[in-house]
Amino acid sequence: MIQDLINELKKSDIEYSEDEPLAQKSTFKIGGKARLFVAPKDTKSFITTLRKTVDSNTKFFILGGGSNVVFPDGTYDGAIISTQNLNKITTEIEPLDANTIYVTCQAGTPISSFINYCIKNSLTGAEQFAGLPGSVGGATFMNARCFEKSISDILHKTEHFTISKKYDDNEANPQIVETPFNAADWDYKKSPFQHEKDDRSTERKLILSSTFKLIKAPDKDKEKIESECKKYISARIDKGHFKFPSAGSVFKNNRDFGEPSGAIIDKAGLCGTKIGNAQIAPFHGNFIVNIGNATADDIKQLVKFTQNRVKKLYGFCLEPEIIFIEN
Ligand SMILES: Cc1cc2nc3c(=O)[nH]c(=O)nc-3n(C[C@H](O)[C@H](O)[C@H](O)COP(=O)(O)OP(=O)(O)OC[C@H]3O[C@@H](n4cnc5c(N)ncnc54)[C@H](O)[C@@H]3O)c2cc1C
Repeated sequence: MIQDLINELKKSDIEYSEDEPLAQKSTFKIGGKARLFVAPKDTKSFITTLRKTVDSNTKFFILGGGSNVVFPDGTYDGAIISTQNLNKITTEIEPLDANTIYVTCQAGTPISSFINYCIKNSLTGAEQFAGLPGSVGGATFMNARCFEKSISDILHKTEHFTISKKYDDNEANPQIVETPFNAADWDYKKSPFQHEKDDRSTERKLILSSTFKLIKAPDKDKEKIESECKKYISARIDKGHFKFPSAGSVFKNNRDFGEPSGAIIDKAGLCGTKIGNAQIAPFHGNFIVNIGNATADDIKQLVKFTQNRVKKLYGFCLEPEIIFIEN
């Protein structure tokens, strides 16, 4: 199993580390170690790593920026495969309309780099995502939504790789699929890349890049775009987003509940509730914060506690947005 994968990675000259500490790789700053950690240096080695991982029947998790995940407390007995080195940005101009610009970001591109690129090149359309932690791949997978705008609202196409046991073992012809944006595949916090909770599933679509459709503004508007971005970052700072380690909103919002999840939790009097070193933020009902060496178990218990109290009081079942990675 994992030893077979290690042998294969060695043969392919792909760097890896064993027993890698995980806490600093997530914004929650929680977690034990990964038996194996791989950050492939380019798309080709990313695909090779995934193929060999599936072939060796090793469980795996694809890590973007780690801003929506809770790593387990003990040792993750599999491979954490990071996209951190897949971070190139390229631009293409729409031939029929020079004002429309397509910006392609490799999956591991930090959202902050994408935003800086937009500012530098006077591109407008993505300002709402300024200050969103994490990577382009993670934001695409989650269909992140910021200030009433979803990633799907600016998406033009994606490129993914389907990992499957049945692949045709031809390195020169990997199964990379380009998919034009199709609104029917996307919804609030839903993307076609999400899958059932099964790390060993052999049919998984892994995002290689996302292309966004943006508008080229005149160069004189660069400062305006930058100040819009700063406005959104300030709004996050004012809401206390960066006061403590967290993974952002814990629960999805549900229109049928009439109010955002944070307001429901606040109304239930749960803000400030602590389990171990995890706390429902006193300043934001939908944030659980790590107030000092919290464990994954603290977070899990606090999530369950909140769900139970809200269910009992209002009959709603809050759906978690954060992803627990199981040992
Ligand atoms: C302070 C704070 C504020 C936040 N505010 C918001 C907000 O306003 N709106 C919002 O929507 N979210 C918010 N979040 C949550 C989080 O930032 C987003 O969900 C983000 O888009 C996750 O990206 P990531 O790269 O960190 O993903 P990760 O946490 O690394 O991964 C998330 C999921 O995406 C999968 N994934 C990542 N890359 C790929 C890939 N290349 N192919 C296939 N699957 C992949 C992972 O396997 C995992 O299942 C916030 C988080 C924090 C800490």
